[in-house]
Amino acid sequence: MAAKAIPGPILLLGAPGSGKGTQAKELVKIWEIPQISTGDLLRATKEQDTPLGRMVKEAMRRGELVSDSLVNQMVAVRLEQPDTVNGYILDGFPRTLVQAAWLDERLTARESGLPVIAVSIQVDYNQLLRRITGRRNCPVCGTIYNIYSQPPQRSGFCDLEGAALVQRADDTEKALAERMRAYEALTAPVIEPADRYDCGRHCCGCSAIESEWSVIGGQWSVPGASDGLLAAVTDH
Ligand code: AMP
Repeated sequence: MAAKAIPGPILLLGAPGSGKGTQAKELVKIWEIPQISTGDLLRATKEQDTPLGRMVKEAMRRGELVSDSLVNQMVAVRLEQPDTVNGYILDGFPRTLVQAAWLDERLTARESGLPVIAVSIQVDYNQLLRRITGRRNCPVCGTIYNIYSQPPQRSGFCDLEGAALVQRADDTEKALAERMRAYEALTAPVIEPADRYDCGRHCCGCSAIESEWSVIGGQWSVPGASDGLLAAVTDH
């Protein structure tokens, strides 16, 4: 299908719990391009017992954004990897206007000629709250569950590994309030100018998480979802 064409950089933006990571994983399967999640890069950094690791851990625990300079540097290093030459999916970046300006400059400098596709996934607050506070991960295989909508067969344990499930330190109602504040104040303006990227779309990601891909994917046109992510990347 047309979707196999080289897509170029795809930017997935949206509030915490909007499903950026879930959608990114679907796109990885289709295009075989890497998912670059700044949240994941930072989670690896915070495990280090260093001043930087501790600083990142504290900011994340509070639900605050980590400094632009650190995040930009991490993304710059990751984009040097050869697996990014045919495109990549940025999951959760850019999250501020400073990060967006840095990325714009970098993309212009590279002149790959590939269109930059930005998709903003929108979900209402009550659903975000349910997704975030219900989210549990397997520490061994990374499988994500939700105690409300996608519980494991045995409460508290991974179906695949049998390991005790864990909750992210920032997946609490208190941290979510700060993450939403950061999103509204700092990230929403990144998405505002419709012409910032070659192809900017707003998608509804408000269905149950297990069927969300069919909404966002867009090639299955679902009532209420005017534009889909897959349509966005095939239309250009
Ligand atoms: P996520 O996994 O995308 O929900 O990100 C988890 C946390 O990592 C956020 O609440 C921030 O503390 C931090 N973070 C992730 N991406 C960024 C970014 N682009 N800029 C600043 N902080 C970030």
